[in-house]
Amino acid sequence: MANTFERIRFVLVETSHPGNVGSTARAMKTMGFSDLVLVNPRDPEVTRHDEAIALASGAGDILATARIVPTLDEALAGCNFSVALSARCNFSVALSARPREFSPPLFEPRQLAEQLAADSALRTALVFGSERYGLSNEQVSKCSALVSVPANPVYSSLNLAQAVQVIAYECRVAALGEVHTENTTIFRGERASAEQVEGMFTHLEKALVEIEFLDADNPKKLMPRLRRLFARAELEAEEVNILRGIATQLISKRQRIRKD
Ligand code: SAH
Repeated sequence: MANTFERIRFVLVETSHPGNVGSTARAMKTMGFSDLVLVNPRDPEVTRHDEAIALASGAGDILATARIVPTLDEALAGCNFSVALSARCNFSVALSARPREFSPPLFEPRQLAEQLAADSALRTALVFGSERYGLSNEQVSKCSALVSVPANPVYSSLNLAQAVQVIAYECRVAALGEVHTENTTIFRGERASAEQVEGMFTHLEKALVEIEFLDADNPKKLMPRLRRLFARAELEAEEVNILRGIATQLISKRQRIRKD
């Protein structure tokens, strides 16, 4: 099965500067990616251009194997998920000025990267616009998601290759994190079932009433807050048993004190 690095393609649309193509190759290779597709670059020979080769530095192989295609549709062939990268939809602006119903759903780079790393069925194209014009609305609308680097709102337009670097970095960190999680899940206990968690809450609530921490007639928001806390903890079955053990002890100690 393809790993995250093999499942992500970088697509540059109508790039003008050979240096940016070279720098993109370098940004990709340093982060472990290799699939580069150029849509209708201004210089059709850009992959052999001196400046591109110079800025690619040790990533000349990525440049040499980059594919050049005439249309975005061809660049997206073989992918089942495509993401438009755009500076023109910074989040504060996006929520107010930009009519979101006309654009694909907007994500932050980190959310996107986590999604790409977690879902091994995704074959993703990350689509970057030209230095001068960015991506057209039509190009954006061909994509399934829109991602914007949350940059300085008064100047949010990154250099093309630097935008590639930021996104590639996020994808790398997420991919490495995924490997780490997979390794650690081997040692993880069994996740508590919904029934086990519900049973634990009932038990805990009873104990909290018993020790008069929770007023049954005026419970306020204690139980919902505890639910939120435990939801974040992703409880294992064994941990639910420990919490129930504590609840049992609280109840029985309290009842013994009452009797004395
Ligand atoms: N003048 C263009 C700027 C293009 S910068 C414009 O106004 O759109 C070249 C490309 O880099 C962009 O099309 C986009 O794909 C990427 N890029 C630049 N800044 C970005 C940002 N803040 N978030 C996401 N992508 C960005």
